[in-house]
Amino acid sequence: MTRIISSTSPQKPSDVVLESPATSAAQVAEAVVRARVAQKSWGENAIARAAALRGCAEGMRAHSAEMAALITREVGKASAEAKGEVARAIAILDYNAQAALDPIGTVIPPTTPGYLIAVRQAYGVAGLITPWNFPIAIPTWKAAPALAVGNAVVMKPSGMAIGVAKFMEEIFAEHLPKDIFQVLIGGAECGQAVIEFSDVISFTGSSEVGSQIVAQAAKLGKPVQAEMGGQNPAIVLADADLALTAAHLSNASMAFAGQKCTATSRIIVVGDDARYKEVCEALVAGVEKMVPNDPATDGVLVGPVISESAREDVVNAAKGAIARGGKVLYGASPLDRDGWFYTPTLICDLDANDPLNQEETFGPIAGVIRAKTVGDAITSANAVRFGLTGSVHGRDLEATLRVAQNMQTGMVKINAPTAGLDFHAPVGGTKDSSYGEREQGKEGLAFYSFIRTVTIGSGTRAFE
Ligand code: NAD
Repeated sequence: MTRIISSTSPQKPSDVVLESPATSAAQVAEAVVRARVAQKSWGENAIARAAALRGCAEGMRAHSAEMAALITREVGKASAEAKGEVARAIAILDYNAQAALDPIGTVIPPTTPGYLIAVRQAYGVAGLITPWNFPIAIPTWKAAPALAVGNAVVMKPSGMAIGVAKFMEEIFAEHLPKDIFQVLIGGAECGQAVIEFSDVISFTGSSEVGSQIVAQAAKLGKPVQAEMGGQNPAIVLADADLALTAAHLSNASMAFAGQKCTATSRIIVVGDDARYKEVCEALVAGVEKMVPNDPATDGVLVGPVISESAREDVVNAAKGAIARGGKVLYGASPLDRDGWFYTPTLICDLDANDPLNQEETFGPIAGVIRAKTVGDAITSANAVRFGLTGSVHGRDLEATLRVAQNMQTGMVKINAPTAGLDFHAPVGGTKDSSYGEREQGKEGLAFYSFIRTVTIGSGTRAFE
């Protein structure tokens, strides 16, 4: 029997956004065959690709209000952030439309008369597997470079964001040749088939699923990149501007109910008792302003978490932390209303090795950790299996730079929130947070093509 994938609104679970039959493995295979046929001419004409991607950007611009409203409805992202995400997707499309016309190779001095050239070439069909939390930005930052360099794309979105993915496909279909960008709705079986039949694989999601996908792709000998979970630290140095830092950290940890891979999950405070107390008070003052409510309402920053089981995870993380001696600085209380809401929660007095401070809980909960010295803070920050991003807050530039250089993360921010990425800069982490080439920017483009070395003899004398 065909499985039905159903996406519902997290703020109003009775609101069904979209239901769709799951794509079988055989249907994925057929979609990849169609994509392969369409890719032949698509891969040959960079001018046409640039124009088509500019069209996709225009299409997204024309539908930006509808797309943002759908993001809010389907994944519970606050309106302002949903609008920002759509604007970012448009910027990514504009960037990659231009990048389709970038030089594609280098000329190397030949050893015999003629030419020696290294040329970038598309793999064929890119298989994308995407999460629900940035339902338009992440699919776009994968699809746009894959398309720009000449691949066709098959994309399996998260079952919790199929409405946005289908709308994206509809917008793109007006500007791209048939079968060049296909959205395949399904669960793990569909994702597995995407890996099996595509030529190059890009995944974003949890570390658990990502590590399996990397192993599977490697076994099949396919290039793969995976962007996965985080447990992102923010180190607050003793001289950090309290008001600015608290504003950055409450937003970075709780906006979108903490469901950003770049959200701050650990706040590590350097200083004596008095400093620790004043930082905790400032954090509480910042977080208590972030009252959860309907994300479609103006000014609301925190909506629900994505699902009932996601809320269970947050409830259990808070209960466990409290049972192990954690002190609730703020929150840890259920909300009696429709939808998967949970109060933003800060828990202190646990050490860096506590499970709350080790594993990713994808929700509005963060640990506050004490560090006597800057060295202790760096040790705590690095004492996790993740390494996506981190931040350091302080007035002394040299001290902040030293800390930043010692954080084992792929991205680091000084006096800025961990959450938030630039559309044209490389994105990625270390350790269990990432595998393979960076996404976005020139690195993102490079991932979707391989280098072919071409030797051209002069044609006038024997090749030596
Ligand atoms: P998830 O791992 O549950 O799912 C991601 C995708 O993989 C979905 O499309 C899902 O259907 C698919 N999938 C699940 N099992 C599969 C399998 N066995 N084979 C093939 N495909 C399979 O993640 P999620 O809940 O959608 O997203 C949240 C996670 O994503 C968090 O851990 C977050 O940190 C991470 N994330 C990371 C980044 C980054 O850039 N590092 C960005 C956003 C989200």
